[in-house]
Amino acid sequence: MSENLLANHTTARVGGPATTWIEVSTEEQLTTAVAETDATEFPLLVLAGGSNMLVADEGFPGTVVQLGTAGIDVMESSNSHVHVRIAAGHNWDAVVAWSVTEGLTGIEALSGIPGSTGATPVQNVGAYGADISQTLVSIRAWDRQAHKVVELTGPELEFGYRDSIIKRTIESSTTNFHHASPRWIVLTVDLHLTKTGQTAPVRYTQLARALNVELGDSVPLEHIRQTVLDLRATKGMVLDSDDYDTWSTGSFFTNPIVAVEATQRLPDDAPRFAHHDETSETETVKLSAAWLIDHAGFNKGFGLNHEPDTVNGRAGLSTKHTLALTNRGAATTNDLITIATLVRDGVVERWGITLVPEPVLIGVQLGHH
Ligand SMILES: Cc1cc2nc3c(=O)[nH]c(=O)nc-3n(C[C@H](O)[C@H](O)[C@H](O)COP(=O)(O)OP(=O)(O)OC[C@H]3O[C@@H](n4cnc5c(N)ncnc54)[C@H](O)[C@@H]3O)c2cc1C
Repeated sequence: MSENLLANHTTARVGGPATTWIEVSTEEQLTTAVAETDATEFPLLVLAGGSNMLVADEGFPGTVVQLGTAGIDVMESSNSHVHVRIAAGHNWDAVVAWSVTEGLTGIEALSGIPGSTGATPVQNVGAYGADISQTLVSIRAWDRQAHKVVELTGPELEFGYRDSIIKRTIESSTTNFHHASPRWIVLTVDLHLTKTGQTAPVRYTQLARALNVELGDSVPLEHIRQTVLDLRATKGMVLDSDDYDTWSTGSFFTNPIVAVEATQRLPDDAPRFAHHDETSETETVKLSAAWLIDHAGFNKGFGLNHEPDTVNGRAGLSTKHTLALTNRGAATTNDLITIATLVRDGVVERWGITLVPEPVLIGVQLGHH
């Protein structure tokens, strides 16, 4: 097994070799590896859990720096809250599990999301009515442009739906490998968590339904965590090496946010959620990418050989969720991209709406219309 093979370090288990591979376990090693790589002509790819990236089958012609830093430090604690600092490489779900055990509220609905803590601000990771912007106070990061460690506060990170200022410095879907990693490399993440005595309000209808409570009701933290994990498992959204439905990057497309006029072709029962964008004058709505895909004829299990309900091909939509593109055991990056392109084009044709990939695409892009 080649250690330099991206397929061995990504949750979709695809991607070719990197030229050089550096594993770091301390912050100093991390900043040194990044600064030294940036001083060469080789491109840099910062990788942690590999759960939100697809790298070309040809591989990455540069240096991968793999984050292995860890640690949760309580910086300040009062009767009402704690301020914690978490190392970027620390497994995210381990942080959530820790917070629940400690009776700390704020991130329990983000249970079961794969990957690292340092990646959570990159796309403002979110699920079940929560996202990281709600608890994140600040980050410390290595600024590759200024060549120094900087601190950026939540507002400075300009969080949006699956978006932040960090993500906007990555050039996805190009073969310009020099912009494969962001300007800021997150070193630590500071969170503000509340001491509520083991319960938290439920903020998401589907979760409230599963818990058999009303929206806004307070429920034991452990109960919320377990229910979220169970719900996610039914959708193949918790990693399980025995289940091909989880060999993915999670949701492959973001839920599209479009002007209300662009939804005229949609039937009344198509899910739509109010979306407020202060920077835009037009009225916008958020649509369900999963619904659009399903109702454009790409059902659960849609496979490479174009026959609905066939999962025997190398790649296909998850049999549990139309939003996840999955490796059925022997897929290549190209197989996944082929399906993604088919799905995107089919949705445009049926609904006139262009879905945008959520994971970072490195050295690959969806086919042209
Ligand atoms: C089964 C499954 C379910 C998922 N469910 C969700 C979900 O519910 N909600 C959600 O938001 N996401 C979800 N995801 C996507 C993914 O888990 C998150 O985006 C996660 O935060 C990625 O973390 P990672 O460490 O794996 O990042 P990687 O894949 O290693 O990296 C992702 C991007 O972040 C950059 N990056 C990584 N670490 C750093 C750092 N320290 N500093 C700067 N840049 C960095 C990388 O260069 C890359 O551009 C899911 C994925 C899978 C496979």
